[in-house]
Amino acid sequence: MSEAGRNMGRRELLETAGKAALAGVALSPATLRALGVDLPGIDHAPLRAIAGPDRVVVIPGRTWINSWVGYGAPPTRTRRRPGESEPPPPPSGPPPTLAWSMESGPGDVSFGDSAALVTTASFSAPGEYVLKLTADNGQEKVDSTFRVTVETPPPGEPLNVVYTKKYRIDNRLWNQRARALIVNWIPHCIDQINRSDLQQGPGGIDNFIEAARALAGQPHGAHKGYVFSNAWVHQTVEAMCIALMVDPQDDPGILAAHAQMRATLEDWIPKILAAREPDGYLHTAFTLRDRERWPERWSARGRGNHEGYVAGYFLESAINHYVMTDGTDTRLFDAAKQLADCWYDHIGPPPRQEWFDGHQEMEQALVRFGRFINDVEGQGKGEKYIQLARFLLDCRHAGTEYDQSHLPVVQQYEAVGHAVRAVYSYSAMADVAMETQDVDYQSAVRSLWESITNRKYYVTGGVGSGETSEGFGPEYSLRNNAYCESCSSCGEIFFQSKLNRIYHDARYADLCEETLYNALLGSLDLEGRNYYYPNPLDANERRNPWHGCPCCVGNTPRTLLMLPTWMYAKSPDGIYVNLFIGSTATIENVAGTDVEMVQRTEYPWSGRVSIIVNPRASRDFSLRIRVPDRNVSRLYRSTPEANGITSIRVNGSVVRPAIVKGYAVLTRSWNAGDEVELELPMTVQRVRADERIVADRGRVALRYGPLVYNIEKEDQDLGQSLAPDAPLTADWRDDLLGGVMVVRGAFTSGAPLFAIPNYVRYNRQAALEPPPPRPAQGERPAPRPASSIVWIAEG
Ligand SMILES: [Zn+2]
Repeated sequence: MSEAGRNMGRRELLETAGKAALAGVALSPATLRALGVDLPGIDHAPLRAIAGPDRVVVIPGRTWINSWVGYGAPPTRTRRRPGESEPPPPPSGPPPTLAWSMESGPGDVSFGDSAALVTTASFSAPGEYVLKLTADNGQEKVDSTFRVTVETPPPGEPLNVVYTKKYRIDNRLWNQRARALIVNWIPHCIDQINRSDLQQGPGGIDNFIEAARALAGQPHGAHKGYVFSNAWVHQTVEAMCIALMVDPQDDPGILAAHAQMRATLEDWIPKILAAREPDGYLHTAFTLRDRERWPERWSARGRGNHEGYVAGYFLESAINHYVMTDGTDTRLFDAAKQLADCWYDHIGPPPRQEWFDGHQEMEQALVRFGRFINDVEGQGKGEKYIQLARFLLDCRHAGTEYDQSHLPVVQQYEAVGHAVRAVYSYSAMADVAMETQDVDYQSAVRSLWESITNRKYYVTGGVGSGETSEGFGPEYSLRNNAYCESCSSCGEIFFQSKLNRIYHDARYADLCEETLYNALLGSLDLEGRNYYYPNPLDANERRNPWHGCPCCVGNTPRTLLMLPTWMYAKSPDGIYVNLFIGSTATIENVAGTDVEMVQRTEYPWSGRVSIIVNPRASRDFSLRIRVPDRNVSRLYRSTPEANGITSIRVNGSVVRPAIVKGYAVLTRSWNAGDEVELELPMTVQRVRADERIVADRGRVALRYGPLVYNIEKEDQDLGQSLAPDAPLTADWRDDLLGGVMVVRGAFTSGAPLFAIPNYVRYNRQAALEPPPPRPAQGERPAPRPASSIVWIAEG
């Protein structure tokens, strides 16, 4: 953006003014006014123009431009808090004339109206364009530019999802993580949800019991907890169903946890089903509501009631219950269908009603549900749910950035607002782009991906700086006391995985891996007894067993345990390998047969991967193996290079396959027992951030394979700096933190540097800071110093 003075501080303005005066150039009134110079005859604030943000257009589509020209500060579209007064009217001045032009680009641009603030632009050819808005009021002339990347559409057919069904994990890191989730974490969630005496984050299965009593006309208790407290019940149901599909391998702890989960499902399912309204509507906060304050469902003033957020998680839990029982128990599935139909009967084009929920989730759940119905009941049967998802998204407008309703979704090109709502919204938009091939959805989804990945993305793969309420901040503003809620990491994984399927491109899977290992995996402690709601890169407090808003408690395990879905994608002619995790999973219906995929690897502790391909019948198909690229986000650059695959052998013979969209393509007749051996480069890398990220200037992060590292106060003084050329080595420590590769070196002081993977941060007692002193009445507590940091001072 080149708009004069917008990003200029007074110092830069003075420098510019000085240079201009030396060169004998007249300064614009806007610049003079910004310098504090009184301009006789001009009694208004400086004229300003703001175009942008940068975006992507998929041709033959167009882009919507919502620019601003005026005097004083541009209006904000953030949420006003209750009781907060209207902002004062903006200062006015003479009306400027506007003109759009193409500053650069490889083709032609046509504007819907080249003299309007709100207009459209379309493009004749792919490539990079710069568009310019000029505003001229006769006294001042200002301009603003933005960049448009014009692309051709994605391939016509998206890749198919690989459902997580019964699978086996054979990998030290993932066996430990899955065991902690299955043996400790999910049972803990079950216990908490069964309790009716919780003071913090209450509202579990008791809400369903009371709602059923109310529906039966019996005396009943009030609703407990947040209006969306059903969400973690449904997520925990889904997490149990997925956990039950993980092979227990005779582990007595896992077998006992599985038995408890089966008993819990038998206990909970009838209670959940009994809380449904006669037409299938399910939301206990509604059934147990104060009828004066909440007279009806789906009302314009009820967008904060999370009706879609809760319903969506119910639909998703029903899908995995159906899969886990191989379709032999359809109780939840039938109820989910009735609930989805109830929504469909009320919400839609006339005579049905327009509506959207303040917290997205129903949209991506409806597409997932529609696709699942297409798969189990036949193509076409699930289309109505996909249409409803799109309708709900298309209803979003005239609201605020907080819940991504400030503009129609197809006109949103910058990631803004509450980060979980945002990534759930974008993930659902990717679903709609995938299902409908709608070019406007494709353009918005690619633009939002660029906005996140190249301007608002942490090196850990987390999102949400927390500068807006639990949300995204401005471009390149990535403070390290970040928000990075665990649920937004789940949403990032959903979003990236869908883009991978739309574009058949491995770079989205690279980011999926980055977020999985570095933002989500460490949300839970090693034992699986405590978790983080926010995941700052400067960590300064311990995890908690529960939270006042326990939205992440079931979301995290259901996402982490859905490994086959993140590891693979498929097309009619082959299998895409996206993650390297020792495991056995079956990919159904590839080239007319089912293929058991066996991965043998201790990745990320070793770069050696063996993939045994076991088709039920010999078939010709392509195996596409992701070639890791650690530099997908342009915000970060790492040295030395550790991209690519060092070597590939098929049945012992070295092969040099073509690399297409980040995949090594192995096309042949595959027979049971065929083995592909890979060697992935594993080395300690230094990562440096784009200079525009102020918080990371003069700092370096460390990475080994896909893992981002951090240093803890436990092992060193965190204020020390690391020389750019100081040697760094990776050492295996079998005895530490369940067995991890540590990174060693020396600070410039000569003191040793000792780094551990970010996902195991804050697992040693001594890393904990003592609690800060209690603040005096009315004072905010002092921020705790970080005891675990990702970005190390360099010098
Ligand atoms: Zn959450």
